[in-house]
Amino acid sequence: MSQEPELVDRYGGHCASCGARVLWATTAEGKRMPLDPRPSEAAGNVTAVVTRGRLISTVLTKRHAARLRATRAQPLYLSHFATCPQADQHRRKGKTR
Ligand SMILES: [Zn+2]
Repeated sequence: MSQEPELVDRYGGHCASCGARVLWATTAEGKRMPLDPRPSEAAGNVTAVVTRGRLISTVLTKRHAARLRATRAQPLYLSHFATCPQADQHRRKGKTR
């Protein structure tokens, strides 16, 4: 179950806004998504699974996340956007492409 150190080695990075350690995951839509590097047993709602060399993140519904947390079948993460102290900047600046 303890796959955290390896994930940080391979996918670790830093939030561009606040400098916190994050894991860079990729959503099924191909968007990059920063995750807090430690799974959250209390509130995690994102699965992160290594698939073909990429860390693929999936945001679960509240009910699905609660069920998985109860079974502890796999670690659940929090999106760093949810915990970043600079989250407002993400929303304001993040749209420029
Ligand atoms: Zn941040």
